[in-house]
Amino acid sequence: MRPSIDQASLMAWFAEHQRNLPWRNTSDPWAILLSEILLQQTQVSRGIVFWQRLYSRYPTVEEMASSTEEEVLHLWQGAGYYSRARRLFQLSKRVCENSENGGFEGVLPTDSKTLQTLPGIGPYTAAAVASIAHGEAVACVDGNIRRVMARQTADENPSPNLVQDWADRSLWKADAGNWNQALMELGATLCMPKRPNCAQCPIQSSCLGMAEPIRYPAPKVRSKKRVDLMCILRLDTNGLPELVQRGSTGILEGMWGPEMGESLDVAALSYLGEVHHVLSHRDMHIRVWKGTVETGVDPKSVPLSSLDMKILRLGGVFDA
Ligand code: SF4
Repeated sequence: MRPSIDQASLMAWFAEHQRNLPWRNTSDPWAILLSEILLQQTQVSRGIVFWQRLYSRYPTVEEMASSTEEEVLHLWQGAGYYSRARRLFQLSKRVCENSENGGFEGVLPTDSKTLQTLPGIGPYTAAAVASIAHGEAVACVDGNIRRVMARQTADENPSPNLVQDWADRSLWKADAGNWNQALMELGATLCMPKRPNCAQCPIQSSCLGMAEPIRYPAPKVRSKKRVDLMCILRLDTNGLPELVQRGSTGILEGMWGPEMGESLDVAALSYLGEVHHVLSHRDMHIRVWKGTVETGVDPKSVPLSSLDMKILRLGGVFDA
């Protein structure tokens, strides 16, 4: 029989060693939801900056719902994965709808099942918010927990069902919010991918993979997809660029930037150079040409992605 996790040790370790993150000093479900959405694809140090920016501008879900998508995108500028910002804005609108229209009268749902009906909320975020803000006895599974599980059970390639099953069985139901956070904190600060600090680990007594932890889980072979695009940076006589809002799909959805596409007519234009931008699943190569436009746009007035800022810098719009 597998040794069971020493739950009390993990909880005691978490109480003593957890990082002081601003959303841990509140029980406000909206603040917690903002942090969980931001941390999905943003490092904690950067997540803190964006969380403070968003939470101080939108201390309640109603404040965001009465704002505009463009303002939310502007505040999100630099955090990447802009679809998250758009879904978050849609979520705020939906929560603030009347109940006859399928809304929640300005109050975030409290249970994980209902939370999952909101835009942008998947099983992980729903479980995290419901357990941390409301104590629902539901287990979270994220990348950190998958790694801890793989090492605890010495499983090189655990299936999503096995990881969820392990998380469900391990859950300390009496304090699910802190339990979920403790496991994630362990994965983030001790059971790290490359150099796990097993000597300090409060649950080493149940760890079957401790002798060779970096074997677990086996690394996923995920090659980045190369994306080649063309871009025309048109400037007016004051050096202001033409900027257009992108459509509602794709990685730059809703953000503003110079015209970009797979095939553009650049026959009469001068070539500026190439911008290289790496995302988690994409290796983007943007060849940029320079053109003219009668009246440009102040780039500070619209939300821009990091990629678009690189293109504008190449054209001398921003200082490098
Ligand atoms: S003993 Fe090491 S490998 Fe096992 S859970 Fe703890 S830190 Fe991870």
